[in-house]
Amino acid sequence: MNELSKLPSVDRLLSEASLHSLVSGHGHRVVSDAVRAELADVRESVKAGAALPATGALIAAVERRVERHMRPHLQPVFNLTGTVLHTNLGRAVLPESVVDAIARAARAPCALEYDLETGGRGDRDDLVEGLLRELTGAEAATVVNNNAAAVFLLLNTLAQRKEIVVSRGELVEIGGAFRVPDIMRRAGAKLVEVGTTNRTHLRDFDEAVGAKTAMVMKVHTSNYAVQGFTAAVAEAELAQLAHARGVPFVVDLGSGTLVNLEQWGLPHEPTPRDSIEAGADLVTFSGDKLLGGPQAGLLVGRRELIAKIKKNPLKRALRAGKLTLAALEATLALYRDPGRLPQRLEALRLLTRPEAEIRAQAERLLPAWQAALAGWPLDASIAPTLSQIGSGSLPVDRLPSAALVARPRGRRAGVLHKLEEALRRLTTPVIGHIADDTLRLDLRCLDVKEEGAFAAQLASLAR
Ligand SMILES: *Cc1c(COP(=O)(O)O)cnc(C)c1O
Repeated sequence: MNELSKLPSVDRLLSEASLHSLVSGHGHRVVSDAVRAELADVRESVKAGAALPATGALIAAVERRVERHMRPHLQPVFNLTGTVLHTNLGRAVLPESVVDAIARAARAPCALEYDLETGGRGDRDDLVEGLLRELTGAEAATVVNNNAAAVFLLLNTLAQRKEIVVSRGELVEIGGAFRVPDIMRRAGAKLVEVGTTNRTHLRDFDEAVGAKTAMVMKVHTSNYAVQGFTAAVAEAELAQLAHARGVPFVVDLGSGTLVNLEQWGLPHEPTPRDSIEAGADLVTFSGDKLLGGPQAGLLVGRRELIAKIKKNPLKRALRAGKLTLAALEATLALYRDPGRLPQRLEALRLLTRPEAEIRAQAERLLPAWQAALAGWPLDASIAPTLSQIGSGSLPVDRLPSAALVARPRGRRAGVLHKLEEALRRLTTPVIGHIADDTLRLDLRCLDVKEEGAFAAQLASLAR
């Protein structure tokens, strides 16, 4: 008890010169709360037998508390998971030109829904509709908050109390609880499944389309592949069948690149233009998957169907904000010059980074990696690895890459989780991937400009 009376009071600590600068930076309330919390903790540990800390140590502890408290929750991280479009790490990283467009839209008033020609009210979709028509060949377009919202709005507008005919092989679940059957039910539509998991034929659709059918739908199986004895009906055939029966044919593409990725050695992924040319009446896709832009849901297709969708009151609830639209316009604009896309669209630049360049980066970083792990019972090395595209895009394809690797000496798998945690607690957290008793940091997404900062951070892992 006697010891406790020697603890400085809250006011005494706050009068310390070094806490003055904390107060002028963060305000009196934050700092005095931290002082009170620190003193309360110290009192408990002194009661439990710990020594009384010196004033200097108390102040340092208060400074750490304030720093932790004020740090934004949305922290930048190094995505070295090997998954380029990582949903939990924010999907596509935006190019600088797109970031500038967001900042311009945020900083000053902008003509979001204002027609500068006439001075009348404008339509926010007009900001990107021209670009989307040009890039997809569709007659009209509209934008909502994400692709899940796009699918929901489409189904709710066109299929409420009606039936949607879809193949059993395409009842997709996307991470984060987006399931095609659930979204259909919530949209008020009835799912009519046809065919089997592995094989669906045109006659299956033909038999299922009836008086209550609102549409024939195709869902791109973006996060899995059915292989072996399989059959699916081509979009052009489905479109023809739907049109002959007087109903629209719609496609949920999920990821939606606007160009043929094969020209850069990437696997083929269907584009909205392919679907429109095959006769699809509406196509939905994401803004932040292969497109490489902001989170958004894009609907393109026939003018009268888009007009109907825009009249649904839920459109107002699901619409995109000005920052999204600014980012989307700037991203789409890059597609006007496809030749330079791999240099200008960050997501594509990362996906097309040559293996040799990543390996050279791994070799440059190896000494820092080895030094960082010197006190750990781990072997530090570099090794070839395979990156994934992510976000459900092209699930079976892998991109050759290179990784910094840590392997336990002997049977000590627990140590990998300690290392994983230490990496996560660095000033800029480093997120890697553990598999097969190995921790890998895939360097595909490590910007060469960030390499120095990354290596410097590693030093604090040493023990
Ligand atoms: C990713 C995906 C969605 C959901 O898109 P979000 O933009 O994440 O909302 C819907 N359908 C398919 C086929 C997808 O791949």
